[in-house]
Amino acid sequence: MFAAPLKLKNLVRAVSLRIYSQMSGGLLSVKSGLLYVVATPIGNLGDISLRAKQILTEVDFIAAEDSRRTRPLLKHLGISKDIISLHEHNERQRVQGLLTRIEAGESMALVSDAGTPLISDPGYHLVKQARSMGITVSPVPGASALVAALSVSGLPTDHFRFQGFLPSKRSARRTQLAELVDETVTLVFYESSHRIVESVEDMCEILGGDREAILARELTKVYETVLGQSLEAILAALQADANQSRGEFVLVVRGAAKEVAADLSEADKLLALLLPEMSVKSASRLVSTYMGLSKNEVYQRALKLQQDADS
Ligand code: SAM
Repeated sequence: MFAAPLKLKNLVRAVSLRIYSQMSGGLLSVKSGLLYVVATPIGNLGDISLRAKQILTEVDFIAAEDSRRTRPLLKHLGISKDIISLHEHNERQRVQGLLTRIEAGESMALVSDAGTPLISDPGYHLVKQARSMGITVSPVPGASALVAALSVSGLPTDHFRFQGFLPSKRSARRTQLAELVDETVTLVFYESSHRIVESVEDMCEILGGDREAILARELTKVYETVLGQSLEAILAALQADANQSRGEFVLVVRGAAKEVAADLSEADKLLALLLPEMSVKSASRLVSTYMGLSKNEVYQRALKLQQDADS
């Protein structure tokens, strides 16, 4: 058997140890005077990372959106620690007090109810202020429903637009969707069980029912389902089975075809010429007939142009 010379063996061991300690360095020590932004699971508690567990164990204090949601996670991890509440209604008032503690040398972890803090969750004011004060903010990455849904969507992921939650009021929701009609990159929305059917109905009408899309429901949980292939197929599935409207959802929708986007921007130019001369209805009817575009799509754009001109 080949016996490596002692010097070589020692060198290999030293390099391996160095690599190992670099890989696990973040795992071993929590630094003082630092703010850690810690991602937690979006359903399956097994998705907590080793490093998240370590940081949550070792930091001086934890701020969480809702202690009733975070306490069971900490219990599962065997961590017993006070939790300071930090939610959208008290974040601005609490920020200074928390940062003063960090400046005095304590370490803090920020978590939200699920997934990555600041992604449709509180923490923006805290992180912004911490950075402006020169405090180091360190990410402890992990689950996020946005990335989990994209990763199984089968839709282009090289570019995407995360739209978060659409407005709850129907008219505002439809206006926002109308603004997205000619967006060519993949669209990602969060939605709750209360509004999922209405939102998909509006998307069918405004973005077009034949748009390719998936509805990712209850990811990593018992009733995980990923429905496709188009917005109208998703709507039909939701209408056929009330259980499909339960839980938490991410909708991933294919962006507009490039030619459609170009046609719509051409339509906007025509509408801008016609609207000062005639009603929204007449202008959109003329333009949609002339360009062979959807009547409703052009009407929504004409309405928006008119509103912008009036405001
Ligand atoms: N910070 C979280 C993240 O990183 O994904 C998002 C928080 S936001 C308040 C909650 C929304 O995320 C839900 O309404 C739903 O749209 C989406 N979501 C969270 N968990 C999910 C899951 N397990 N499956 C599908 N969507 C989920």
